[in-house]
Amino acid sequence: MNFPIVRHRRLRQSAAIRGMVRETVLTVDDLIQPIFVTYGKGVKNEISSMPGVFHFSLDTLEEEVKEIVDLGIPAVLLFGIPETKDSVGTSAYAEDGIVQEATRIIKSRYPDLLVVADTCLCEFTDHGHCGMVHTFERDGHVCGDVMNDESLELLVKTAVSQARAGADIIAPSNMMDGFVQAIRAGLDEAGYSHVPIMSYSVKYASSFYGPFREAADSAPQFGDRKTYQMDPANAREALREAESDVLEGADMLMVKPALAFMDILRMLRDQFDLPLVAYNVSGEYSMVKAAAQQGWINERAIVTEMLLGMKRAGADIIITYFAKDMARWLREKQ
Ligand SMILES: [Zn+2]
Repeated sequence: MNFPIVRHRRLRQSAAIRGMVRETVLTVDDLIQPIFVTYGKGVKNEISSMPGVFHFSLDTLEEEVKEIVDLGIPAVLLFGIPETKDSVGTSAYAEDGIVQEATRIIKSRYPDLLVVADTCLCEFTDHGHCGMVHTFERDGHVCGDVMNDESLELLVKTAVSQARAGADIIAPSNMMDGFVQAIRAGLDEAGYSHVPIMSYSVKYASSFYGPFREAADSAPQFGDRKTYQMDPANAREALREAESDVLEGADMLMVKPALAFMDILRMLRDQFDLPLVAYNVSGEYSMVKAAAQQGWINERAIVTEMLLGMKRAGADIIITYFAKDMARWLREKQ
């Protein structure tokens, strides 16, 4: 008998046969492009740690959105940088808040583009935490507890005002316990039972968020987020987080960040049948951009492999700052 009998290379001989047996396909329909909207006029400022990503004011936003629509990307995820912040994040749920205004503008010009509203308070609170904080002094330092149930009320107000402005999907990212149930009840009561919730179910207290905090001006002013975001060492706990969101009525589950948490994507895919979202976060973006600028890696090949890996791990949808680039690359011939 000749050796070897099994020859895996038979199915790798040409591009045509590789294409035919390919298991995972990345398409533009999988992508969501995040956008940062800020106050002021005529603003288009590049975020220094995220080359190619900008802050837009309401009057410069349209050019960016047009590009996204022209590329065939189906959805944007909105983050807002408000003019004023306070301890309870009033500008998060103001009727004329920055996210609400941006949503109205986008939906009036491009009704078919899905607007996903990030629902959190950290960009709108002066302390930079994702909920209401009870502060106290310990050994001369300001400390604080993020209060769970008190924060839910404000998150519900935020979600309802975003839905009222026209948001198609509510994406709560705050990691308070019970947030999906509270927001679902609030949306239903306000007449938005048709608006789905994309829950940041499994959000780790990760160092990969560094560049985002510059972009969203949302770094905590004291302490950290480890009392509400998950410990990167834990996997089983991710199943408990996801399960409670499923029971509370989430329509989609998310894992954030993605690259260092591919196993979590796979676990959730195997355990739950809801659509699964991977968030390819700012630090993952910045690392690739920096290396590409140095000429150390092939950016297109690396990004394609990363995003394909997220889909292979189980993601149906990918939120990525590379969405526009990827959409362009997918249009060009391979
Ligand atoms: Zn937050």
